[in-house]
Amino acid sequence: MSPSSLPLSQEIALPNGVKYTQPLGLFINNEFVPAKSGNRVETINPATEEPICEVHAAGAADVDAAVDAARAAFPKWKRVSGAERGALMQRLVRLIYEERDLLSAIDALDAGKPRLKNVMNDVEESLSVFSYYAGWADKLTGKAIECSPDKFAYTRHEPYGVCGQIVPWNYPLGMASWKIAPAVAAGNVIVLKTSEVTPLSMLYFGKLVQKAGFPPGVINIISGFGRDAGAALAAHMDVDKIAFTGSTLTGRAVMKAAAESNMKAVTLECGGKSPNLVFADSDFEQAVKWSLFGIMYNMGQVCSATSRIYVEETIYDKFVEAIKQESLATARIGDPFDDSVEHGPQVNEAQYKKVLRYIEIGKKEGARLILGGGTPAATTKGYYVEPTIFADVTEDMTIMKEEIFGPVVCISKFSTEKEAIRKANNSEYGLGAAVFTTNLNRAHRVAAEIESGTVWINSSNDCDVNLPFGGFKQSGIGSELGEYGINTYTQVKAVHVNLGTRL
Ligand code: NAD
Repeated sequence: MSPSSLPLSQEIALPNGVKYTQPLGLFINNEFVPAKSGNRVETINPATEEPICEVHAAGAADVDAAVDAARAAFPKWKRVSGAERGALMQRLVRLIYEERDLLSAIDALDAGKPRLKNVMNDVEESLSVFSYYAGWADKLTGKAIECSPDKFAYTRHEPYGVCGQIVPWNYPLGMASWKIAPAVAAGNVIVLKTSEVTPLSMLYFGKLVQKAGFPPGVINIISGFGRDAGAALAAHMDVDKIAFTGSTLTGRAVMKAAAESNMKAVTLECGGKSPNLVFADSDFEQAVKWSLFGIMYNMGQVCSATSRIYVEETIYDKFVEAIKQESLATARIGDPFDDSVEHGPQVNEAQYKKVLRYIEIGKKEGARLILGGGTPAATTKGYYVEPTIFADVTEDMTIMKEEIFGPVVCISKFSTEKEAIRKANNSEYGLGAAVFTTNLNRAHRVAAEIESGTVWINSSNDCDVNLPFGGFKQSGIGSELGEYGINTYTQVKAVHVNLGTRL
């Protein structure tokens, strides 16, 4: 098929027997349009390794068209009242809810995420993020500031204008919702580029945007490769802010492109290698369960996965054995459309090979393999990797330092609180951290000492829409979610009012 002959939609039969119409075009100005670039990207079902379909892939001219559409929509959109913006977002919430079965099935197919035990949580996340920020849309007020008897001032929280947004593949709906909802609630217009690995659910989401009645150009969603569409968006002279989620390496390139173009505002949510400290005084059973969840959920493809577990030496052997047994007892690996399954394949062949390569490095460098270490014996196709546990991992080992982004955890021991904190902070990243202890003083003392944007006390990776999520160090700049998250989509203006000073 030549690029121009790629249709704008295609019937897809899902493994659960449901058939639906998948949009394939770029969603610009509330319409699905072909890519001027003539480029396309093929998406693969990671559970079967078979192609699903191809979608239109944006090039620089398509990014221009999407940015132009957004720019044209901005003057009207920023004057729409907050209450009305919120009401439109609530309409979208209802539509997402009505289409939850289909949306969850699309990402089960496209990303290999178990439909019920994983993607349904993304859908719920999307619902809660849009509802939450719909509520904020009419509450973005500034402050009145008295400066002197002759002067007061007030601040206005104004939208940036056109926001470029770039998202990864690990939570196609979730990460996009984290970006779109606060941006449009605050009166911005957006061009969101999805990951070339998982373009399908957000294209379908475009249909819901249309149906909800958003004005054309407010929400534009484009598929495309990072090197073309992503780079063009980050370097665009008419984009006022760029919000990025993905690897630290790409985040650096996005920041550079922003600096070298029009110095647009930048927020970055990047990689992580998050620590998990388990003290001997913790609730042992809960620490084991949360520790396993904190690394294995979403097949380990979680930026804040607590992938380095440090355990107090007096309970170290017991913990290592218990987490292995917990994994053996609970991990259900298999078809993402089997509703009892919680562990599907890695998202694609590149990630699958990368994770297996790290496992080999771990073995070679002398880490003790406790569980897993390869492809599950029962699978003959699909990019499946077993939940893998390494113990006695030292600080200098590659698997302890680098982000693997797979179901692989490193366990090591510590003898004092000071040593635990030192090891926790021994990373270029600073995204999340978990602390397990029943000692109240220790819990807060350690939380204060850890260099990361989030610390979970007695849990791991239970994000909350009310709370900011962002990285310290090379894990990012700025926060998403909560009030802090919407603040990153406004710029503050001070208006000085002279009440009488005469020159
Ligand atoms: P990635 O950096 O390869 O890609 C992310 C996005 O950037 C994709 O849409 C890609 O097309 C685009 N991109 C690639 N090169 C680009 C360029 N030069 N200019 C502009 N855009 C470009 O990351 P990934 O493999 O999709 O996702 C995994 C990474 O994302 C992990 O490192 C993970 O930790 C991180 N992540 C972070 C968070 C967070 O909130 N901190 C959340 C999810 C994932």
